[in-house]
Amino acid sequence: MAWFRRSKENISSEGQRKDMPDGLWTKCQGCGEIIHRKQLEQNFFICPKCSAHFRIGSEEYFKILLDQNTFREMDKKMRSADPLGFVDSKPYTDRIKESIKKTGLFDAVRTGTGTVNKIPVVIAAMDFSFIGGSMGSVVGEKVARAIDKALNLRRPLIIVSSSGGARMMEGALSLMQLAKTSGKLAQLSDAGVPYLSIMTDPTTGGVTASYAMLGDVNIAEPGALIGFAGPRVIRQTIGKDLPKGFQRAEFLLEKGFVDMVVSRRDMKECVTKILRLLQD
Ligand SMILES: [Zn+2]
Repeated sequence: MAWFRRSKENISSEGQRKDMPDGLWTKCQGCGEIIHRKQLEQNFFICPKCSAHFRIGSEEYFKILLDQNTFREMDKKMRSADPLGFVDSKPYTDRIKESIKKTGLFDAVRTGTGTVNKIPVVIAAMDFSFIGGSMGSVVGEKVARAIDKALNLRRPLIIVSSSGGARMMEGALSLMQLAKTSGKLAQLSDAGVPYLSIMTDPTTGGVTASYAMLGDVNIAEPGALIGFAGPRVIRQTIGKDLPKGFQRAEFLLEKGFVDMVVSRRDMKECVTKILRLLQD
């Protein structure tokens, strides 16, 4: 995982740290503190000094939210075809193959069932490390199937998002996933089955414009960038400086776009409380 790899600037000129195995130490993007991976892991991947939330993958998030050994994965090996024969700097099929090899994942979301403090749920968590957490046909289909599962079992649904947006290599097929997942969530809502959306850094583009913002309760992690277009694009379009904290979780809470900002440390407890409330 890229987040734990040391960048060159972390290696001081005195050269002593070079003995450390790669990836054991990591630098906080928030405050520059050098933290040992073990310490970070024990602290929910939150910087002990400035509380910045490091980006983590689905595996880490399942561990944080679910009771031990309860996760059962669905559609694990579903992978993308290349319907458009898309080539940019390299063919899309090569990009997929390389991403699978690099991350050990098959696409940018993993879905399944499990329990949260003994409450049975259906859960999906995205991986930003897989082509920027982009939503193509596989992400859309897996999320849609997870919603179906929640609907059939009448179990609450939790989706943990982190995404750069729609997957441009699949063109309009990516955009269709917005309609598909949103339509499925409407069915879930009609059936009265709860859906909690957890937005982590970053949640942007088509994912924000579909399932991430459609939770019965929309929860964000502190400091997470959440938006549709990125701040740079907006600044260029409107030709004005953006307010401080624009598109960050706390700003969106103030403006009413998210319901709560919850530290990852308290996430399981918070989700449990909400689920119990909704069950009653
Ligand atoms: Zn920090």
